Amino acid sequence: MPRGDGRWSWRPPRRVLDYARQDAGDGHRPPHLDELAETVTNAVDALTGGRMCAVINATGVVLHTNLGRAPLSRSAIEAVNAAAGYSTIEFDLRTGRRGKRGTTAKSLLCELTGAPAALAVNNAAAALLLALATLARGREVVVSRGELIEIGGEFRIPAIMEAAGVKLVEVGTTNRTHLSDYADAINERTAMLMVVHPSNYRIEGFTARPQLSAVVKLAKSHRLLMLHDLGSGLLDGALGNEPTLKASLREDVDLAVFSGDKLFGGPQAGLIVGRADLVARLARNPVARAVRIDKLTLAALEATLMSHLADRLDDLPVWRALRLTPEDIRPRADRLRAALGGAASLRPGVSVVGGGSLPGEGLPSVLVDIDPRPASEVTVLARLRAASPPVIARTERGRVVVDLRTVPPDQDGLLARILRGALPAAARTTE
Ligand SMILES: *Cc1c(COP(=O)(O)O)cnc(C)c1O
Repeated sequence: MPRGDGRWSWRPPRRVLDYARQDAGDGHRPPHLDELAETVTNAVDALTGGRMCAVINATGVVLHTNLGRAPLSRSAIEAVNAAAGYSTIEFDLRTGRRGKRGTTAKSLLCELTGAPAALAVNNAAAALLLALATLARGREVVVSRGELIEIGGEFRIPAIMEAAGVKLVEVGTTNRTHLSDYADAINERTAMLMVVHPSNYRIEGFTARPQLSAVVKLAKSHRLLMLHDLGSGLLDGALGNEPTLKASLREDVDLAVFSGDKLFGGPQAGLIVGRADLVARLARNPVARAVRIDKLTLAALEATLMSHLADRLDDLPVWRALRLTPEDIRPRADRLRAALGGAASLRPGVSVVGGGSLPGEGLPSVLVDIDPRPASEVTVLARLRAASPPVIARTERGRVVVDLRTVPPDQDGLLARILRGALPAAARTTE
């Protein structure tokens, strides 16, 4: 089959015969039947081989954005299943009439957070876009230069503000912003002060930023709106320097925004809580319809909210993973080490929370460190990715590193089998 001209690199499977006929018509040698069959098989593989599939996350990165951030809880998965067919997304069973999408999720969010009103949209980026476009369009919003973040995947605070038709007024410097910087920027065009959690990086050393309470007070004294983008959505308690929603609402911010699929441990969603009059304005904006969440997300969100309300954080895979101690992980890691023979050893290390939470910090873990020789670590990682299910691991200094924090314990045996299959025989047996 002629390949040199690059035309055979990829073909829609149904067109392979057409191209072969055309080439033959142009005087090229007609392909052999086996070549044709192989081309069709490759084309079908190329078309469907990239479909989403379940993987074993052996990286220890709990909120791995490329692997779908928060895994859903069992009850959330059941709720998604139940909602997948006909469901009551906009139907009121008591009256038999049309119901309002998201009513229960809103009530649960208010109950959980104590906020007067709530709204759930597609993701936190959409929540910010909606809030800015509704409340500050054509006006100025003041943000510290230390908070003009890029989260990744095209999400940048200045770009969102531009898309919302808002004029960004940057104040302070990258490392230091004072309350007076905010105060000096306020004029008759100012609509809002915005505080953004610089979630995925940390500025160390000579730094300063005003307390949230001081910024809120300043906003109120000028009758300006105050929006807090918390990012990861830690509701309460303490986890490194993560801001909590409870503290934000205690300081009386007008609106707080956070993601559903980070520390909240649910589906992709943007959750907005705060003042009822403002939330009502957001809900009336046509943009709200464009960024609304679908029935599957809503079902998972309701189930996740129920877990939080019942104080059953251990329902949520993210929290089960975060709460594991090295003592929890060591016996599992040791069994895996034993199953892999002499190539594997244990060592202390750290798991990363990910998803823009706890930058620069980690959770102590026990890592399984595997010597891939005589194969290279790149080869072993590729074999792991080609396994069924694929296993995603890390490498460090020529070694393959497995962190069981993010592996459900009932998959330990499966992971051991896949790892054995991916390692060269010599690596497995040298005890
Ligand atoms: C992650 C994050 C976002 C974006 O959230 P998505 O739900 O992914 O859209 C926005 N702001 C902050 C501070 C974040 O950490």
